[in-house]
Amino acid sequence: MVAQEIIRRLSGIVGKDNVRASEEDRRVYSYDGTSTWMHMPDLVVFPTETAHVEAVLKVANEAKIPVTPRGGGTNVSGGSVPIRGGIALVMTKMNRILGIDPGNLSATVQAGVVLMDLQKALAAKNLFFPPDPQSFLGATMGGIISENAGGPVCLKYGVTKQYILGIKAVLPTGRTIQFGGITLKNVVGYDLVSLLTGSEGTLAVITEAVLRLMPMPPARKTIIALFDDLPRSGETVSAILDAGTVPAKIELLDNWVVRNINRITGMGLPEEAAAMLMFECDGAEEMVAHDSEKVIGVCRAMGATGVIIAKDAQQAQAYWKARSAGFAAVFSAAPTVLAEDVTVPRTRMAEFIRRVTDICKRADLEVTVIGHAGDGNLHPSVMTDQRDPAHFERAKRAIDEIIEAAIEFGGVLSGEHGIGLEKQKFMRRTQDPTFIEIMKQIKRIFDPNGILNPGKIWED
Ligand SMILES: Cc1cc2nc3c(=O)[nH]c(=O)nc-3n(C[C@H](O)[C@H](O)[C@H](O)COP(=O)(O)OP(=O)(O)OC[C@H]3O[C@@H](n4cnc5c(N)ncnc54)[C@H](O)[C@@H]3O)c2cc1C
Repeated sequence: MVAQEIIRRLSGIVGKDNVRASEEDRRVYSYDGTSTWMHMPDLVVFPTETAHVEAVLKVANEAKIPVTPRGGGTNVSGGSVPIRGGIALVMTKMNRILGIDPGNLSATVQAGVVLMDLQKALAAKNLFFPPDPQSFLGATMGGIISENAGGPVCLKYGVTKQYILGIKAVLPTGRTIQFGGITLKNVVGYDLVSLLTGSEGTLAVITEAVLRLMPMPPARKTIIALFDDLPRSGETVSAILDAGTVPAKIELLDNWVVRNINRITGMGLPEEAAAMLMFECDGAEEMVAHDSEKVIGVCRAMGATGVIIAKDAQQAQAYWKARSAGFAAVFSAAPTVLAEDVTVPRTRMAEFIRRVTDICKRADLEVTVIGHAGDGNLHPSVMTDQRDPAHFERAKRAIDEIIEAAIEFGGVLSGEHGIGLEKQKFMRRTQDPTFIEIMKQIKRIFDPNGILNPGKIWED
C-alpha cells in the first residue's frame, strides 16, 4: 500500500484528479494486451508535463515505490503490468504533437501521442512515420519506442529504432536528460537513443521524442496471392526477395485467420486457399509497376492458385483494414490465446511453419499462423483456456517447443513484442549470461534503487 502522505504529495504535483486509487481505476491499469498477466497497481498517476514526471519519480525513488510506465497498454508481453504494485504512470495525457518539420523530415511529439493521430497529422503534410504496429488505434509513441515496435512496412523501411532521432526522458532518480537531436547523422558518444529504444520502460520514462519521417510514396499497389499449401507461401517470400524486389509489405495469413477475420469484419476475403500472402508495393509509378509485375510473376511461378490485384485505393485500404483485424480475430476466437512473436531467417520460414503445425497436431491443439512474413516475423497463436489446467499446460508446452524451434532455426525469441514477463524464462535458457549481466549493470546505472518497471525482461 502507498501511504496517505505519498498520495498527498503526488496530488500536489499532478493535481488531485490525476491521482486515482479506487479499485475500479486500479483494475483498469492492471493488465495489457496479453490474456495471461494481471496485477493491480496501488495508485494510478497521470502526468501532463515532463516536470510532473520528474517530481513523481523523485518521490517514488525516495520512498522506493515501484513505478510502471504505461502508454496505451496494448503490448502483448506483460510489459505494462505493474507486477510489483506501486504506481502505474499513465502517459496518455501527454498527447501533444509539438511540431512537424517537413524541411528536416522530422516531428517532435509527447510520449502519449497515439500513432493513428500522428499519422493523420502527418498525412495532411504528405509525410508518414514508417513503423506501423497494427495496434495503431491505441498504441502511443512512448510504448512504440519502448518496445521498438515493427509492423508490415518494416520489411522495406525498417523498425522504430531507425526512426528515432532524439529522446527526452526522465531517469528514475527524477533527472531529465535529452539524448540525440534532430539530425539524421549523430555519432557523438554512445548511442543512448538506441539503448532506450526497446528498453521496455525499465531505464527511464520517455516524455518526448524527435521522430524521423518519410515523404508519402506517390503510388501504391496491393496484391493478394492464394496458395493451397501454407509452407509454400513461406517459400514464396524468399523467392520474391531473391528475385531482387523488396515490396513495402509481405503479410502471411493462414486459412484459419482469414475465416476468422471474415467472421468479425464481414470482409469477404477469399476463404478457399490454405494461405494468403498480401503485398504492398510502393514508390514512384514506374517502380510500383515493375515491382508488382515481379511479385505476381514469382507468385505464379511458385504455384499460386490465384492472384487478386486491388482495383483502387479504396479496395486496397479495405484489404489492409481486414489484415489489421487479424489479431482481434485471433484473440476473440478462444478464452485464452497464447500468441507468439518469433522471427526466423526468411529462408527457413517454410520449414518452421511445418514444425509449428506438427507440434500442435501432436498436442491436439488449434493453431493459427499470421505474421509479417517479409521479415520472417511470425505470430503462431495457440487457442486454449486457462480455466482448463490440462489444456492450458499442453498449450504452454507447445509454445515452448515453438520458441525452441525458432531458436534452433537461427531465429530470435521476440521480433517486435519484447520480453516483458511473457518470455523471461527463455532469457536465461537462450542468452549468453554475460549479455544478461551487462543489461543488469546498465539498469543499475540508470535506476540504482530498481524502482522502474521492476520484474521485467529478466528473472531476478
Ligand atoms: C491488436 C494488436 C496488434 C499489434 N500489432 C503489433 C505489430 O504489428 N507490431 C508490433 O511491434 N507490435 C504490435 N502489437 C504490440 C503493441 O501494440 C506494441 O508493443 C506497442 O508498441 C505498445 O504501445 P503502448 O502505448 O500500448 O505501450 P504499453 O503497452 O502501455 O507499454 C509497452 C511498454 O512500454 C513501456 N512504456 C510505455 N510508455 C512509456 C514511456 N513513455 N516511457 C517509458 N516506457 C514506456 C511500458 O512500461 C511497457 O513496458 C500489437 C498489439 C495488439 C493488441
